[in-house]
Amino acid sequence: MDDHDSPEAGCTTHFATLLIKEFLKEKIKLLDFPYLIRLNPNIPWKTRGNASIKLIIESGKDISEIIDIVWNKSLEYTEKISKAKKYNRKPGLAIAKYKFTDSWFYEKAVKDIVPLNLAKEYAEKNGIMIKGDRGIIGSIAAISYNPEEITYELITYRPEEEWSKNKREIDFNSVVNFENKYFPKVFENVDYIKKYLLISPHGHDPILYGIRGIDADILIKGLDEIKTKDSIDMAMIFKTNQATDSHITHKNYFYQTTEIVGKVLMVKIIEGGDVIINVNNESVLVYKETGELNLASKYLRKGDIIRVIGAVKPSIKFGKIIEAERIEILELNDKILRNPRCPKCNSSSESLGKNKGFRCKKCGYKFYGEKIIEKVPRELTTGIYQSRYYRHLTRPIYLDLIRNQTFNEDQISSILNKLVNYKN
Ligand SMILES: [Zn+2]
Repeated sequence: MDDHDSPEAGCTTHFATLLIKEFLKEKIKLLDFPYLIRLNPNIPWKTRGNASIKLIIESGKDISEIIDIVWNKSLEYTEKISKAKKYNRKPGLAIAKYKFTDSWFYEKAVKDIVPLNLAKEYAEKNGIMIKGDRGIIGSIAAISYNPEEITYELITYRPEEEWSKNKREIDFNSVVNFENKYFPKVFENVDYIKKYLLISPHGHDPILYGIRGIDADILIKGLDEIKTKDSIDMAMIFKTNQATDSHITHKNYFYQTTEIVGKVLMVKIIEGGDVIINVNNESVLVYKETGELNLASKYLRKGDIIRVIGAVKPSIKFGKIIEAERIEILELNDKILRNPRCPKCNSSSESLGKNKGFRCKKCGYKFYGEKIIEKVPRELTTGIYQSRYYRHLTRPIYLDLIRNQTFNEDQISSILNKLVNYKN
C-alpha cells in the first residue's frame, strides 16, 4: 500500500497499523512484521518520505474478500483521515496471492523513475492485483521487495485528538541515553552536533516518533526507555530497507543515485562554501551543509582518486551535477613535480616551456634537466567521508552489520498484538 498520507493528516504506516489491528481481530494471521520500504529519494514529485508498506498474511478467506477488506479500509482512511482527494493524493494497493520472488520492480523503483503504465503492465504480467491510482507503483515495489539485509524502525502514534499539535514533547536525554546504551544496534536517532532529535516529524501527522536500529527487541525496549509527555496510542515495528544503500546504482541518469570512480581533475570552492569537484569530467557538487564531507572535499587535489556516490540532478550552470552524499578517497596524490635547481648556484629555476629547458631565477643560467618528483604531506587520509544529512536509505559508515533476526509466528503475533494495543 502507498500514498495514504497528506499534509493534513495520515500516514501510510499508520494506515498499515490500523489494518494489522483489524487483521488480528479477524484472525487473519500475519507471517512476518510489516515492511516499510523507502523508494527513490531523488524523485522531484515524491510524497513526504516516499515509502510504501507490505504486509504478508495467511488466510483461509478468498483473496477477493481480502481485497475488499483492505480496499474498504483504504477508502475510509483516505476519505476521512488523509483527505486524499483534496490534496491530490493517489492512494493505491497491490495484492499478490502467493509469495512473490521477483525483485526487478523493487530494484527499479528504489533506483529509478517508474511510469504508471510500466507498473500496470508489470502487475498484469505477474498476476498482481491492483486497486487505486499512482500509489500502486510503491505497492508493487513493496511486493517485489525480497531483502537479504534489513534494518528496523519502531514507530509510535499519537491519539487522533493530538494530531493537530505540531510540537512533540520527547525527553532529549532519554533518547541520548537509549542510543548510548545500545549503539551501534540503534542508530541515526540524534543529531549530536546540532543537538536535536531525528526521530520526530514536525507536522500534523499521527507519528510521535520513529526509532531506528538493527535489533527488534532493543527497539521495543525503547517504548519504556524513551520518555515523553505525549500520549501514545498504538506502536508498530517495521522491517525496512533504510540504511541499506539500496538506492545506489552504477547507471548515471537524472534522479538516480550514481556511483562513479575516477581521478580528480579540479577542485573549486564556490561562494557560500559549496565545493565543485571535476571527476572524470563529471561535476560533483558537495554542499556546505554536508559538514565533514564538504570539509574533506576542500582538501582534495588534482590527481586524487575517489569514489563518489550522489544524486544526479539537472543544473542550469553545469547541465548535470552529482550531489555528493559520500566520497571514498581511494588514493591520495602526494607527489608534485618541481623544476630542478640551478647547477651553478643551487637556486630555484623557471621553465622556459616544454623541452626548452630551465632558467635560474637568481643568476639567469639556462640549462636542460628533468623535473624532480617531490612528496608533499596531505591533510587528508584515505577512507570514507559521508554527509551529515540524514537520508533514509544511506548506510551510516559505522553500520557494518545488519542482522535479519528470526522470529517464529507465535513471537511475531504476540509482538504485533502488544504493539497495536500499546498505550503509555
Ligand atoms: Zn643559478
